[in-house]
Amino acid sequence: MLFDVYINGRLAGTFGHEHSENLSVSVAGTVEGNYLFAGVVCRENGKLFHQSWDQLELGQTDEVRIVASDRNAPTQPAKKFEMGRTDRKAWEANVCEFCQRNETQVPKFIPGDAHRPGICSDCVELCNAIIAGKT
Ligand SMILES: [Zn+2]
Repeated sequence: MLFDVYINGRLAGTFGHEHSENLSVSVAGTVEGNYLFAGVVCRENGKLFHQSWDQLELGQTDEVRIVASDRNAPTQPAKKFEMGRTDRKAWEANVCEFCQRNETQVPKFIPGDAHRPGICSDCVELCNAIIAGKT
């Protein structure tokens, strides 16, 4: 499956994969800013890969439209890596407490415990940008 994402009517990217297992296009908002994330878990030659695209910064009044795409090729992903242990279903139970995506939907996941929430690498990057004053 592929989705075209338009921001204020302008094509911002086509996200997905012809052999998508799980595609996520989401908007996350913080007091510092709003962001669009896209990531996909896909299968190539029997192996599972995770691909994600650079996050897009959104203005307060930006309008995001997501529509099923009939394009042949998605936008080149920013990150792609093979996922290990494909039979481990527990991954979907690991949810980032900040963006609510599960471990199969994020580039990397840092598990939490009884005293600390789990967080994904995208949210860590966002926090680092906020701390650095870049947002
Ligand atoms: Zn997250």
